[in-house]
Amino acid sequence: IEPRHPLSPKGEFVISYEFFPPKTPEMETQLWASVKRLEPLHPRFVSVTYGAGGTTRERTHAIVLRIARETGMKPAAHLTCVASTREETDRIIRAYWEAGVRHIVALRGDPPGGVGSPFMPHPLGYPSSSHLVRGIKAIADFEISVSTYPEGHPESRSIDQDIDALKAKIDCGATRAITQFFFENEVYLRFLERARARGITIPIVPGIMPVRNFKQVSGFAKKAGASVPAWLADRFEGLENDQETHAIVAAATVVEQVMDLVKNGVNEFHFYTNNRADLVFGICHLLGVRPVREKVEA
Ligand code: FAD
Repeated sequence: IEPRHPLSPKGEFVISYEFFPPKTPEMETQLWASVKRLEPLHPRFVSVTYGAGGTTRERTHAIVLRIARETGMKPAAHLTCVASTREETDRIIRAYWEAGVRHIVALRGDPPGGVGSPFMPHPLGYPSSSHLVRGIKAIADFEISVSTYPEGHPESRSIDQDIDALKAKIDCGATRAITQFFFENEVYLRFLERARARGITIPIVPGIMPVRNFKQVSGFAKKAGASVPAWLADRFEGLENDQETHAIVAAATVVEQVMDLVKNGVNEFHFYTNNRADLVFGICHLLGVRPVREKVEA
């Protein structure tokens, strides 16, 4: 059983955040401001993504280490195996362990030709995410989180195949699944039920994506195995040049989603922050996840 979140009033919620390696100095400033703002909420962990095909290898590594060094939060390093030899991947895994990092989000990664092109494993690499999970565990006793797809991965033929893939990763040592984002809670709740019926007991943590930029998110969703319901498109219609209203609608939408999941018994959330703290901080506040300082003053 997962321990309860120590700071929420009823000890109810466990939260985690995802960040990505920034490309510009301005984005870098934004990232660290967000990290600092979210730190007092004591997430279970914060994860840092790995650019497609390992393109952010050094930057991911540097951010993970800085989080470990300069904050009280536990970092989780995303790692993909798609475009690397096993030797290269193992070197990265060992370097994380030696630096004191204890949590990896293990992924296969998208095919080098892009989403939709056939996946060809690197001839000298780990052929799949479950092989990667096993490889990591063989090197050291990391905590391992993996992905899962409530609406089916784009390459998957059926939801059962996704559940099989998740089971394979659990059998190799994964202890937490984080979902691809979704907008219809029913989709996630049905998937959860099917996974539980298949004997999967590890936490399947909903990945929550605030819609900061509808056009961008809907483009990304197409490639990611997430559908964009018509009601969501309707909510953002005509707001392309109205940032203020867009932000209000985004906040209302994500709060509605999270609170509905809470009503359905969900008590753990992984937030795709897009390196911004505001919305996520607000949702955490509503959940009763607050900085220690505020609780002392209250
Ligand atoms: P896998 O677990 O490898 O599976 C993909 C699908 O293939 C399965 O759903 C299943 O249908 C099929 N499959 C695979 N193995 C089996 C099996 N043994 N039996 C049956 N079917 C199988 N990408 C990045 O490049 N960097 C990141 O940092 C990153 N972070 C992510 C974080 C999360 C939470 C999520 C949901 C995705 C992330 N991705 C990231 C995207 C991911 O790399 C791609 O979706 C990729 O195409 C699949 O890799 P995977 O490990 O998610 O899926």
